[in-house]
Amino acid sequence: MKKPRIYLSPPHMSGREQEYIKEAFRTNWIAPLGPNVDAFEKELASYVGASEAVAVNSGTSAIHLALSLLGVTRGDIVFCSTLTFVASANPILYQGAEAVFIDSDYDSWNMSPQALQRALQDAALQGKLPKAVIIVNLYGQSAKMDELLTLCEHYQVPVVEDAAESLGSTYKGKPSGTFGHYGVYSFNGNKIITTSGGGMLVSNDVESLRKARFLATQARDPAPYYQHSQVGHNYRLSNILAGVGRAQLEVIDERVKARRLIFERYRQSLSHIPGISFMPELENSMTNRWLTTLTIDEKETGIKSSQLIEAMEKENIEARPVWKPLHLQPLFKEASFFSHSEDEDVAQQLFSRGVCLPSGSSMTEEEQGRIVECVMNTIEGVYARQGII
Ligand SMILES: *Cc1c(COP(=O)(O)O)cnc(C)c1O
Repeated sequence: MKKPRIYLSPPHMSGREQEYIKEAFRTNWIAPLGPNVDAFEKELASYVGASEAVAVNSGTSAIHLALSLLGVTRGDIVFCSTLTFVASANPILYQGAEAVFIDSDYDSWNMSPQALQRALQDAALQGKLPKAVIIVNLYGQSAKMDELLTLCEHYQVPVVEDAAESLGSTYKGKPSGTFGHYGVYSFNGNKIITTSGGGMLVSNDVESLRKARFLATQARDPAPYYQHSQVGHNYRLSNILAGVGRAQLEVIDERVKARRLIFERYRQSLSHIPGISFMPELENSMTNRWLTTLTIDEKETGIKSSQLIEAMEKENIEARPVWKPLHLQPLFKEASFFSHSEDEDVAQQLFSRGVCLPSGSSMTEEEQGRIVECVMNTIEGVYARQGII
C-alpha cells in the first residue's frame, strides 16, 4: 500500500481564515479591494516595518509594478540573481528590457557581491548602467545586503528585493524585504504563508506606492468618465483573499519557528553523512528556512541529486531540484551572465547538486522520519543491496 503523499510545502491554515472570509461575505465585500485589503496592507507593512504596502494578485505582479515604477522600459538593462524562479525575471521581459544575470556565492547561495561588482564595472565602462538590480533571497536566506547595497549605491542603481521566499527572515535584525527601494512578497500556495495566490509590494517611497495602486487598477485618470493616458494592469488582490492573508499573517512567527525546527531535525539526522551539506545561514541573519535545501556530492555519496529525488518519489515524497539558473534557461539564452569568478559558475554547481526537502510547517515528526529514512537508505545503498532499485 502506498504511503500518504508528503508535499514539498503545502498550505497551512491558521484556522482563523474563515472568520475574515465570513465577514467579507456578511458585508458583501466580495469585489476587489475592501476592508480586508486595507487592513492586510497595514498589518504587513507594520510587521516588516515598511512605510506602506500595496496588496496585489501575485508576487510576479509586484515585481512588475516595481520595475514599471522605476521607469524600466524597452532597451533598458536590469540585473537579476540567476539562481531563482523565473518569476523574478519575467517582468524584465514584460517591460521589453534586457536581463543580465548575476551568479551566486557559496556562503549565501544568493547574489555574489564580487560578480555584481564586475557586472557594474563592465556596465559603467560601456556607459550603460542597469535601471535596476533585482536581488533575490533564496529559500528564505537573505542575500549579502551590506555588500550588495554598497555597490548599488555607489553606482546609484535602485534595488528591488525579491523577498517572495523570505517573509519572516531578518538580516542584521532588520526584516527581509525592506532593504531595497522596493520589496516584494509572495503568497502563492507553497510560500511560508499563503492567500492561495497573492503578493505585496512594500516601500518607504509612499508617493510611488500611490502610483503603484493607480497602475494596478488599469491606470484610470481622475475624470468623470473612463480616461486612460498610460498602460495599466489589473493586479489588485481580492478582499476575500486578503482575509485569508490576514489570518495567515497572525501566525507567521509560528510558521518560521516550525520551519526552522524542521531544518534543525534534518540537520541533526543527516549532517553526519559525508557528502551532504546544508544551505548555510549567513552570520547575523535569520532565515525562515522556507525550504530545507542541501547539496549532494556525488563522489562522496555515490548518488546524484536526481537519484535521491527519484528515490523519494518512489516513497511518495515530493522533493525538488534547486531552481535551474536563469542564465541556463532557453528563454534567456541570449542574456549575459557574470559568474562568481572566472572559472566558477556557482549557481550551476548548486543546481546540479541541490535538493529541496519537504518543509511544510504542518509536517509531522513521523512524516519527517520517513523522509530522513529515505535519504539515509538511498545514500547508504541499502536499497541497492536489496535489489529494490
Ligand atoms: C514564488 C516566487 C515569486 C513569484 O511569486 P508569485 O506570487 O507566484 O507570482 C517570485 N520570486 C521568487 C523567488 C519566488 O519564489
